[in-house]
Amino acid sequence: MTAQSLPIGSCPVCDYMMDSATDLSNEKVEPQPDDLSVCLKCTSILRFDDELRLVPLAPGEFAKLPDDRRATLFRIRRIVRKINRSFSR
Ligand SMILES: [Zn+2]
Repeated sequence: MTAQSLPIGSCPVCDYMMDSATDLSNEKVEPQPDDLSVCLKCTSILRFDDELRLVPLAPGEFAKLPDDRRATLFRIRRIVRKINRSFSR
């Protein structure tokens, strides 16, 4: 996976500072407005706004996503939580 630089910002839920994002496709892809992301600290599902700032999903937005997209996001959250647990030992 290739990390892409982002404008430095923080998770709107937990304030974790982030300055890069990684695309699952392993391609060098710049984040685009409305792309989704997962906070590496609190695992909140976030969306890039028009200026590529991370914002929380609007109420009901997650439920409207296609099943495969929701399943992928849940899988990412499980992996991030597992990694975070391994670092906290
Ligand atoms: Zn967070």
